[in-house]
Amino acid sequence: MSKKWNMIVDVAKCENCHNCFLVTKDEHVSNDFPGYSAPQPLHGHEWIAMRRHERGQAPIVDAHSMPVMCNQCDDAPCIRAGKDGAVYQRDDGIVIIDPVKAKGQKQIVNSCPYKVIYWNDELDLPQKWIFDAHLMDAGWTRTRAEQVCATGALRSLKVSDEEMREIATAEKLDVLLPERKTKPRVYYKNLHLMHKAFVGGTLVRVTDGVEDCQSGVSAELSHNGKVVGAAITDHFGEFKIDGLEPESGSYVLTLTAPGGKSSTHPVHLGISQYLGVFAL
Ligand code: SF4
Repeated sequence: MSKKWNMIVDVAKCENCHNCFLVTKDEHVSNDFPGYSAPQPLHGHEWIAMRRHERGQAPIVDAHSMPVMCNQCDDAPCIRAGKDGAVYQRDDGIVIIDPVKAKGQKQIVNSCPYKVIYWNDELDLPQKWIFDAHLMDAGWTRTRAEQVCATGALRSLKVSDEEMREIATAEKLDVLLPERKTKPRVYYKNLHLMHKAFVGGTLVRVTDGVEDCQSGVSAELSHNGKVVGAAITDHFGEFKIDGLEPESGSYVLTLTAPGGKSSTHPVHLGISQYLGVFAL
């Protein structure tokens, strides 16, 4: 079975340093790779673009980021939008916008549901990240973006589709906009940090009017009678239950102290939220 390129992005490891964005500029601005890509303009294009997302309220807040680039889709709308074979997928899975045939084909830009195709006014050309195809063809095994990522958030893999399916299942990988059925070859790990919500809170024990952080308390969240998440309070008395669907309605939070004392609280989930301080 033929092996094809895939990329795994781990959102939990991305530090928003922009190295992947910058190295792609370094590779393509002013550089022509005939057959692969024409030079990227200095300004206005983000072939690897950073997306950021903040969640929660003080004191439980997190901020995450992730690079978004051409997903090298197996069922790519951009291929259908291009005339005369201007966009095509190679046998190794990489999608190329032909820098000669695509000239003047502005309709290709809007065809991408991920908004990662940019219009080059000067060259009259749609352009995007090419998975360093010119380097991979020269024997490289890792993209430049992967090589400059100091935290190891990016991983290029050349494997069969069957192997990739197994990896995606084992590592609980997601793709962007799965409902568009474009069959992306770029996968995301820990995508819940960008797309899902959490609830958090703080547990205290009150002794003689003095509040003290209470660790080891079980926090359990139920939705329609079914437990959908649980956590144990840490040394600061804080808990965080993650991976919840935003705007998903009513929940019940049950807090149970190690001694068995418990309380229940209604929760209405909109976006990620800090529920406040609870005394048990
Ligand atoms: Fe085409 Fe956009 Fe899919 Fe890339 S992500 S293959 S540009 S549709």
